Amino acid sequence: MRSPTYLRRRGSQHIRRAGRAPGDHVAHIVDAQWLSPGVRRLRFRCEAIDPAWTAGDRLLVRVCQDSRRYYTIASIDHARQRFDVVAVAHPYGAGGRWASTAEVGETTVVFGPKPDLDVRIDGAREAVLLGDETAVGLFEAIRSGRQRRVPVRGAIEHGRGVGLRSEPGALEGLDILAREGAPGARLHGWAHAYARAEPRTVYFVVGHGAAVRSLRLALLAMGIRGAAIRSRAYWGRAASTVTRSTSASGSLRAGSS
Ligand SMILES: Cc1cc2nc3c(=O)[nH]c(=O)nc-3n(C[C@H](O)[C@H](O)[C@H](O)COP(=O)(O)OP(=O)(O)OC[C@H]3O[C@@H](n4cnc5c(N)ncnc54)[C@H](O)[C@@H]3O)c2cc1C
Repeated sequence: MRSPTYLRRRGSQHIRRAGRAPGDHVAHIVDAQWLSPGVRRLRFRCEAIDPAWTAGDRLLVRVCQDSRRYYTIASIDHARQRFDVVAVAHPYGAGGRWASTAEVGETTVVFGPKPDLDVRIDGAREAVLLGDETAVGLFEAIRSGRQRRVPVRGAIEHGRGVGLRSEPGALEGLDILAREGAPGARLHGWAHAYARAEPRTVYFVVGHGAAVRSLRLALLAMGIRGAAIRSRAYWGRAASTVTRSTSASGSLRAGSS
């Protein structure tokens, strides 16, 4: 029998833990859409989906013969055994190349899922997301998981050539900022202009590792409680990496903050 999901605080992060045994599952790509140049929504069908899988969980996806990358379940349809990830597509890394070229009809292997940042915001006054293009899936997970209409706002800073847009029904509530200078520089500007130490506001900070770290420090310096900040380094040098061999799928690369 599964042990119940429970909340555990690691440092000031809210990471959901659940007593489920992850494993390798075959997943078929059934839809692939460009949300903008550089950002792609991939829809998978996977017979292993069970009620414990939730939006916001992280999945390790085999992106090529010998590499895996973490992706966030952006939304999930248990009845139809489908889930979406929103993946950044670029030529610089194995994950980006996979997201650029993955096609409907292809099959891959996903490992997990495992609970990651707690995306539940019920009871909050509002949620504020600060992240880069890798945060789009988390944004969708936060919005799709909320029971009541808690407002979600914030900013996404994107790299050159990505061209995200905020429109009704898509990234609504987010300011879209083109990166200028170091990763996170424009998010700092946004935070200084709009972030406030108000009770019952939850902050999500994800994306480039060094940017996440410095934004978190900036929010703390504004008087925002660490317990109100849910942060995670997704990529970049400050996102610590672990590489180890796995028999089934080659190297396993896991980033964590
Ligand atoms: C818990 C967790 C959840 C995640 N969820 C998602 C998700 O939902 N969607 C998603 O897209 N990613 C997500 N990521 C990040 C993802 O795992 C990859 O690290 C990321 O997509 C880049 O992988 P890569 O192999 O292309 O590049 P890497 O091998 O990580 O990096 C190689 C080089 O590519 C360049 N690069 C990498 N990422 C970017 C970028 N965003 N913009 C510009 N240049 C870049 C850099 O030059 C970097 O040095 C998540 C990570 C974690 C830890």
